[in-house]
Amino acid sequence: MSPAVFEVQDLTVRFGGVTALDGLSLRHDSGGVVGLIGANGAGKTTFVNVLSGVVRPARGRAFLDGRDLTGLAAHKIARAGLTRTFQNLRLFGSLTVLDHLLVPYGARNHGRQRALALLAEVGLAGTESRRPAELAYGEQRRLELARALALDPRIVLLDEPLAGLAGSESDELLSLFGRLRDGGTTLLLIEHDVPSVLRISDRVLVLDRGRLLADGTPAEVASDPEVRQAYLGDD
Ligand code: ATP
Repeated sequence: MSPAVFEVQDLTVRFGGVTALDGLSLRHDSGGVVGLIGANGAGKTTFVNVLSGVVRPARGRAFLDGRDLTGLAAHKIARAGLTRTFQNLRLFGSLTVLDHLLVPYGARNHGRQRALALLAEVGLAGTESRRPAELAYGEQRRLELARALALDPRIVLLDEPLAGLAGSESDELLSLFGRLRDGGTTLLLIEHDVPSVLRISDRVLVLDRGRLLADGTPAEVASDPEVRQAYLGDD
């Protein structure tokens, strides 16, 4: 069997008395968009934090393409092909838009060209000399995304990328995610907007108190009675 794009085995994370992830095991073999939903505190961000090297698990392992990432530093995990965006944006106030991408690409000519092409791809053409504070909020979110894409990752973890965006902006971002998926990048999407997740995902994972409550295609997950009751407003 070829290695999974990503896999976790028996992942357990505790914060004091709180068990944020409780022996979670799953593997994802193909690309596409994987939606990750669940109530506040279900463990979604913790899952992304473990995969990206921000949090160490108390127990269990995480793999990317068969390579054990558990305990590696975040920058090594990024170089290995797994990058992320943050729920609260982490941009550098003193750097221009272009500088944000020259950090991963390098400032040589080739790096600049790739950076400018990536800015165009995410809809930020013409903003390269601005600083984050001079961008609209939706543009700041795209810059975070561009930075995560700059390393040509195999998988990008997106922590609530649609939060705070107007409807038209989130539609544009969702179509960008579709294009990235079609280009072969796997996306793991944490999102509170469940209808959008169901619309765009190939697979949906539902976390509940650190365990998998449901896992399947959007249609399968949307017809699960427990999921319907908890997330889709059924009584
Ligand atoms: P949300 O949708 O609100 O972002 P989530 O599903 O991402 O929630 P997590 O942020 O992963 O959930 O949190 C899971 C549990 O772990 C929660 O009970 C949370 O309070 C707890 N937790 C997360 N990070 C920490 C931390 N650094 N210190 C203490 N407890 C934490």
